[in-house]
Amino acid sequence: MASTVNKTAHPFSKANLDDLLLKRFFYAPAFEIYGGVAGLYDYGPPGSALQANIIAEWRKHFIIEESMLELDTTIMTPEKVFVASGHVAKFADWMVKDSKTGEVLRADHLVKNVLNDRLDRDKLARNPVADPKKKAKKETPLDDALVVEYESILNRLDEYSGVQLGELIKKHAIVNPATGNDVSDPVEFNLMFASNIGPVGNNTGYLRPETAQGHFVNFQRLLEFNNGSLPFASAQVGRSFRNEISPRNGLLRVREFTMAEIEHYVDPADKSHPRFKDVADVKLRFLRKEIQSAGKNDIIETTIGDAVATGMVANETLGYFVARIFQFLTKIGVDPARLRFRQHMDNEMAHYACDCWDAEILVSSGWVECVGCADRSAFDLTQHMKATGRSLIAQKPVDPPRFIHKTEPEWNRKELGLTFKKAATSVQKAVEALPTEELEKIRAATENEPYKLTLENGDVVDVTPKFVKIVDKTIKQTVEDYTPNVIEPSFGLGRILYALLEHSYWARESDINRGVLSLPPLVAPIKVLIVPISSQEAFKPLIHEIATKLRRAGIFSRVDASSVTIGKRYSRNDELGTPFGITVDFASVANGTVTLRERDTTDQRIGKVDEVIAVVADLVEGVCTWDEACGRLPAYSGVQAVDGAAPTS
Ligand code: AMP
Repeated sequence: MASTVNKTAHPFSKANLDDLLLKRFFYAPAFEIYGGVAGLYDYGPPGSALQANIIAEWRKHFIIEESMLELDTTIMTPEKVFVASGHVAKFADWMVKDSKTGEVLRADHLVKNVLNDRLDRDKLARNPVADPKKKAKKETPLDDALVVEYESILNRLDEYSGVQLGELIKKHAIVNPATGNDVSDPVEFNLMFASNIGPVGNNTGYLRPETAQGHFVNFQRLLEFNNGSLPFASAQVGRSFRNEISPRNGLLRVREFTMAEIEHYVDPADKSHPRFKDVADVKLRFLRKEIQSAGKNDIIETTIGDAVATGMVANETLGYFVARIFQFLTKIGVDPARLRFRQHMDNEMAHYACDCWDAEILVSSGWVECVGCADRSAFDLTQHMKATGRSLIAQKPVDPPRFIHKTEPEWNRKELGLTFKKAATSVQKAVEALPTEELEKIRAATENEPYKLTLENGDVVDVTPKFVKIVDKTIKQTVEDYTPNVIEPSFGLGRILYALLEHSYWARESDINRGVLSLPPLVAPIKVLIVPISSQEAFKPLIHEIATKLRRAGIFSRVDASSVTIGKRYSRNDELGTPFGITVDFASVANGTVTLRERDTTDQRIGKVDEVIAVVADLVEGVCTWDEACGRLPAYSGVQAVDGAAPTS
């Protein structure tokens, strides 16, 4: 049996985690030696490896599992594309300016921060023992009605327009908390970075704020690649750029980030999903739009099967992806108890969406949207079709074929020309625009009693069967055109990565400064640390053998032969989230045994090199738990070490 471990001995410390992430170079402010730029971050070796492993799992979980069509489209995008998609007109946030310093703030964030702060102070005033230091400030409690109003505003914040935010700022006397100055009325700020493509001409371009449009403009080729059949999905991992008004909270709101997006194309008349039954029993935590609109945040816990059956989630395909998102996030290590799906309120929904659920993860600063899952309807394809005149539609068989009866004019063009000369085309156009009942009147007309036809210019002419016959036709329809609808799961990898780091972080009971990242082996940057107890030459062949065998098994390992104590070497790797350590001691050199250490429990087991590598391979693959590994390898007692220098943790 594995040892038990207490991960909650110390309350979570964001400051300690931030220190660790910087010290171990998970990520750091970009251009730091020049003073840095808000909202831009560079990932160091463990951060890059963690992100690469998350992406590798994402590709397996979505692209490979569902045979999606992968794309890699350009970031720089000509303006017309974003005019058609609505981003030039609408991809904007509301900002306000400090009336004296000119500091720019995002209007909704200002309201949120100020009201949250007032509510926190109200709590202190009502319960002064909670923090004896702050009690000295003598906070006065808010009016009960005001508390309810603030809470309701906060729950509905995403719903307010710029004008409404301006009204809230005035009504509740909200000022810039940093300066105490008034702020301006909110103005709209477009979040796209503009540039120029080439030196001349009408050449405005934008760095894409999402990868989605790159999928849509290629729809016809993707459909052809998929042999004309739907449903199918395209997928892409790539960089996106948003010129956020006030980037903050580390990786949570940045100006350049990696997205992983899926566009799943379906027939709007049939949004069922063939694999929905595989996920129907997955239980999720939902926050519905009606609850939020009522200013509340109560969660409903139910299966995705029920959520779709009751209409809470609009359709099976949207529900399928919501459940698959949950499975992906929890597989890579997000805590399911800190994960919920929040439905967008009607006014909050993006300009294109008809139902949208965000996967939100709870971190120390609150709930953060990490994945958006929207039904974008036919919006994008329709817009690009209108803008380009190109066909972005699909066809489906009509089975059994449909017979369509039509009543149509059949022209005797010679007579038409002779009778009406220059006006012939106008006559033809006017007749063809008539409804069926008027065509019937033409059918009944005679030379003596002609049909009186009014032309576009107001002239009235006589129409007779001499130059137009009204005939009935039956057309057999075997296929029909339709514009596919798009269901889009859209992942922000930086936010997921940060949330995962928070959920993985804890400190050893014995020492608050000994931080550990309990990253699952699946995504951990390094899977195995090889630790030689001595730097003697005699150790080198065995180290080489272990490293080669791990490499051959596809397991990423590192050797730490530095001169610091084994305990320090393990602590460093606990901070990097390295799940396993193989210690090579004098006994290893003498009889080919090594010890295997597990990061969280610090348990050590012993076995021959090949046995240990086989167990590690299964642990990393996720086909064996540490408990099971303990059944396969005996506990290490320390007596094996020839020089008595037993590895310590
Ligand atoms: P959206 O298209 O706004 O729904 O964004 C899709 C996903 O991108 C979100 O769920 C986030 O994970 C991520 N995202 C959006 N904006 C940012 C940002 N400024 N910084 C980091 N991630 C972001």
